[in-house]
Amino acid sequence: MATSRSPIGRCPSCQSDIPSHRVLIEYERTDGPAAYAECPDCRDVVRPE
Ligand SMILES: [Zn+2]
Repeated sequence: MATSRSPIGRCPSCQSDIPSHRVLIEYERTDGPAAYAECPDCRDVVRPE
């Protein structure tokens, strides 16, 4: 069975899945919620897409 560790999105640079525990900041935008997270692969802070 799937666990609760579903990714919140993918790194726009390297396309790696970003798990939810990597999220640094969540915030609201006019078009909905958004977040910044640390990519586990390239170790950049990115906006998951
Ligand atoms: Zn990355």
